[in-house]
Amino acid sequence: MTLKPTFQDMNVYTDILPCRTAVRGIQRNGGTVGLVPTMGAIHEGHVSLIRAAKARCSHVAVTIFVNPTQFAPTDDFTAYPRPLEADLDSCKRAGVDLVFTPTVETMYPGARLESRTSTNVHVSGLTDVLCGPRRPGHFDGVATIVAKLFGILPADAVFFGEKDYQQLAVIRQMVRDLNIPIEIVGCPTVREPDGLAMSSRNAYLTSAQRTQATCLSRALFDAAERIRGGERNIAAIVDGIREGIVSAGPAQIEYVDVVDSNTLDLLSIVDRPARICLAVRIGSCRLIDNVGVDAPPTPR
Ligand code: AMP
Repeated sequence: MTLKPTFQDMNVYTDILPCRTAVRGIQRNGGTVGLVPTMGAIHEGHVSLIRAAKARCSHVAVTIFVNPTQFAPTDDFTAYPRPLEADLDSCKRAGVDLVFTPTVETMYPGARLESRTSTNVHVSGLTDVLCGPRRPGHFDGVATIVAKLFGILPADAVFFGEKDYQQLAVIRQMVRDLNIPIEIVGCPTVREPDGLAMSSRNAYLTSAQRTQATCLSRALFDAAERIRGGERNIAAIVDGIREGIVSAGPAQIEYVDVVDSNTLDLLSIVDRPARICLAVRIGSCRLIDNVGVDAPPTPR
């Protein structure tokens, strides 16, 4: 049996039916499909997901779609980078078998985007904290498009980055609640050598802002170190992070919160595996980052 029964090379689909047929064909021939959903502007963070998918599945499918329903009208939907040729090249070099890159009309036929689709997926609870209240409707847009992609590419496993930790938690919950037969795999955040979490949006930073932005990961790593050293008081941790950010230059802190790693409940004491999460605007660029503190700290 050939391991790659369907593709000698990377196939690129813009239409739903041939894409679904291709995925099913692989599975009928005994293969497994790992799915990596992206909005394109492929960087090493995305490539790490592709590698994880390749390690686990016989075939890898990548979706490239800048999903309008997860952007607010004031967000950067129009300006979001769309270097499709370079992205396809990156996918090919990373050994991707199949790319699905539909148009907005294909994904939302005839829909007035401001009214979204008739059917929307809303995951409650997990979306009431962190980015949820600051980006109303964002996670409905994310959950709905991911559910649609699962219907189009009925993959065996799907790979998401911990960089978007809340998104990963929301998708896990959706899959559990809706009994969607797909394994969710979370993958660690890939960082630049100076610690900045890789993101397609980093391209918006000027060179001075790019230098300043290293304060985010530095503040997070320092905080994690303090917790590992025995600090349990979250107010003190958060103050330290805010100070680290403010002292690095002009920035608008949206939130700095410490949450339960599983439930995303806000914590005031670190007494269980926790995630330190933040969202900060530097210039016009909104950056998010987070780190985990998995070991329960020893009391001081
Ligand atoms: P995006 O194209 O930004 O929607 O991201 C697509 C997928 O790549 C999501 O699962 C992200 O969490 C993941 N991702 C983005 N940046 C990184 C990174 N620096 N490290 C690991 N995964 C990432």
